[in-house]
Amino acid sequence: MAENLCYTSMKKFKSKYGEIQNVSDREYFTNSIHVPVWKEMSPFEKIDIESQLTGYSSAGCITYVELDGGVQNNLEALEEIVNYAMDKDIPYFAINVPNDTCLECGYTDEFNDKCPMCDSENIQQLRRVTG
Ligand SMILES: [Zn+2]
Repeated sequence: MAENLCYTSMKKFKSKYGEIQNVSDREYFTNSIHVPVWKEMSPFEKIDIESQLTGYSSAGCITYVELDGGVQNNLEALEEIVNYAMDKDIPYFAINVPNDTCLECGYTDEFNDKCPMCDSENIQQLRRVTG
């Protein structure tokens, strides 16, 4: 729902105020305290930035870190990121990790439309772990 609002409000903003650089030159607003999704940075940098802003978000907030598939076998790295977020007082923290399961053969990894093992398109995609 929040994501939808980011598009609609941007449309309305543009029709009223036009396109302003760094304000309305994208298709949608960045909501809440988030670092814009097009910025590439380490999870630690993102936590550093967002942890300074959590106090301004009167309606609550969440910090996400989006990781690529490589981390799923690296529990120490995951733990380090979670601990870092806790140390920085992030009130609500989530990590997105691609984790796809083929419902035909049970293979699990990061794959998007098709199972690399059996070519099935009957797959379940998990992208978020919250806690
Ligand atoms: Zn399969």
